[in-house]
Amino acid sequence: MSIKKIIILLSLLILSVLLIIIFGPNNKLLPIAPTTPLPTPLTSFTAPILIYHYVEYVKDEKDTIRKSLNITPYVFVKQIETLKNAGYTFVTASELIDILDGKIKLPQKPIVISFDDGYRDFYTDVFPILKKYDVKAVAYIVSGFLDKPNYMYAWQLKEIARSGLVEIAAHTIHHYSLKGLEAQTTKYEIEESKITLEKLIGISVVSFAYPDGSFDMQAIKLVKSAGFKSAVTTLHGFEVSWENKFSLYRIHPGDKTGNSLLNFLEQK
Ligand SMILES: [Zn+2]
Repeated sequence: MSIKKIIILLSLLILSVLLIIIFGPNNKLLPIAPTTPLPTPLTSFTAPILIYHYVEYVKDEKDTIRKSLNITPYVFVKQIETLKNAGYTFVTASELIDILDGKIKLPQKPIVISFDDGYRDFYTDVFPILKKYDVKAVAYIVSGFLDKPNYMYAWQLKEIARSGLVEIAAHTIHHYSLKGLEAQTTKYEIEESKITLEKLIGISVVSFAYPDGSFDMQAIKLVKSAGFKSAVTTLHGFEVSWENKFSLYRIHPGDKTGNSLLNFLEQK
């Protein structure tokens, strides 16, 4: 055997050993076939979407509007603890649609906590509680109200968006009721709120809330064509489905805690 042949044989041997090392059965470089099947799209499932406005200790006793829309941080913490202990899984609005689409598996007892309008107390009172309890939420922001008194500053919203805990969603620019509103204004309120928020936070905005829960077929059509994946109303119900993903139900937990909250959520 010539030296040339020995070199060729040795090279082949080294190459085969290398190939076995790289692509052998115990190697993690090769993709492993999934052992569990991917989730399939669902037609519908049950998930309460809770609606909140203010969470704070109201200083002005005469501010009856604020008081009627408010629960205290103490009650909010009790609600979070109740839901956690009862095995609820906190998801965002966009995750609801991912569950529907079969992109993520249906978790145990999914629930969404949603906050409307983008009040300053979301940053000062709610966000620290969400972080402490590691709870996801969705905040529907009126883009034109940012930096105004009583509303969050843009820098606060950016910080919240970066946390990955809160989905930033749109709630128009001026909080106009959309039912019966002229098409051009409706289109602008829906599209521009999405674009403004996206520019600010650098994350796509895919969920929408109709101001005052007011909507019609035109608003639904424009929300869809603007590229949103879902929209919430203030109609009472629990079902999430392909039919109602642009008119999702929400429920008011008020200041219920403990069993009173759990019974309310399980009434269906
Ligand atoms: Zn609102």
